[in-house]
Amino acid sequence: MSTLPWLDAPFQSVLAAAAAGRLSQGLLVHDAPGAGGIRLVKRIAQLILCSGETPACGVCSACRRVESGEHPDLLRVEPKEESKLQQITVDDVRDACEQLVMTSYEGRGSVAVISPADALNHNAANALLKTLEEPRPRLHILLVTTRPSSLPATILSRCQRLRIAPPPREQVLAWLQAQRPSADWPAALDAVGGAALEALDGDPTRLRELRDDTWRALQEALKGSLDVVRTADAWSKEALRLRLNCIETYLTRRVLQGPELAGHSAKMRPGAHLSGPDLDINMATALGLLDGVKEIRQQATTTLNKALAVERLLWRFSRGAVRARML
Ligand SMILES: [Zn+2]
Repeated sequence: MSTLPWLDAPFQSVLAAAAAGRLSQGLLVHDAPGAGGIRLVKRIAQLILCSGETPACGVCSACRRVESGEHPDLLRVEPKEESKLQQITVDDVRDACEQLVMTSYEGRGSVAVISPADALNHNAANALLKTLEEPRPRLHILLVTTRPSSLPATILSRCQRLRIAPPPREQVLAWLQAQRPSADWPAALDAVGGAALEALDGDPTRLRELRDDTWRALQEALKGSLDVVRTADAWSKEALRLRLNCIETYLTRRVLQGPELAGHSAKMRPGAHLSGPDLDINMATALGLLDGVKEIRQQATTTLNKALAVERLLWRFSRGAVRARML
């Protein structure tokens, strides 16, 4: 698979820091969803462990083993499959640190990759903090997360931060197009919230169908003709996260198109073709509904009654539409 063009700039900044001797032993990569932070971290691990002539050469035996995940001085710490809460525990952190400290097999240092770092539970974060406060020589800790705000401030303050900005949609589309030219990538991206790698790993046809189906249901909700209870029940059981992405895209477009629609609604309205949000829903309502989507997303990992939460959101679509028409 080709390299991701939006990772070039952040990697160059790491190269520059390393060349100037400013690469911290604790590095936190703030990933954008689906932007491939873990791939950037692999390149950084190559930079640290490379035995070739140019840094992170990609062809020496060390670089190749980093790529295949078989380098003895590189450990990945992630939630164990059997972990019900999908957490990284204190034992996971201790085991990794001990293993890496025993020896650096090839003498260039060792690297622990913790991903997703927001999965560290309280005790694990404390254990990691000790390691970050007194890092052993040449042990590098690379943390990857899309949500740095959910990490303890004490950890954040010990790490150099590297942000991967969400790549521009056009750049993501061009990259996806180059990987697989025949797919409807714009629609697929709508369903995965712009996450490039998730789109590529998914089935673009199915993603487009899911988006169209979700948007159709929202339009029905706005007209008051949707079977809200049945739809909410179905969505809560399958692909809820993708459905929420689709709702978010629908509303975001409505907000962005708001001024245009207000001024030129007659011209802008498409015919029978389903081309996006264009119905009676005002901007304040759309923003309120976006907050509703965010809430469900935040609570989706808890024991929240998902069907009920989605049902409430869909009812709000109907009510919001009624209010907008009355204004
Ligand atoms: Zn190399």
